[in-house]
Amino acid sequence: MPRTTYLAKTFTAGCFICHGGDAAWHSANAQALAARHHDLTGHETWCNIVLQWTYGEHGDGEPTEDKTE
Ligand SMILES: [Zn+2]
Repeated sequence: MPRTTYLAKTFTAGCFICHGGDAAWHSANAQALAARHHDLTGHETWCNIVLQWTYGEHGDGEPTEDKTE
């Protein structure tokens, strides 16, 4: 059966000093913002990137190639 595959990426990042545990940045460059904020301020920052794969006709995100057997 042919497989339709979607990949959605969710970015969350923030600064422990400025934002507590809350995420302040959600864009695709959230990791770069966290790294730059650390360099500018010396604050401890963090970034999470979640990959969500969906198989089927109504997936979230971008249609993508999946080489999984
Ligand atoms: Zn900060």
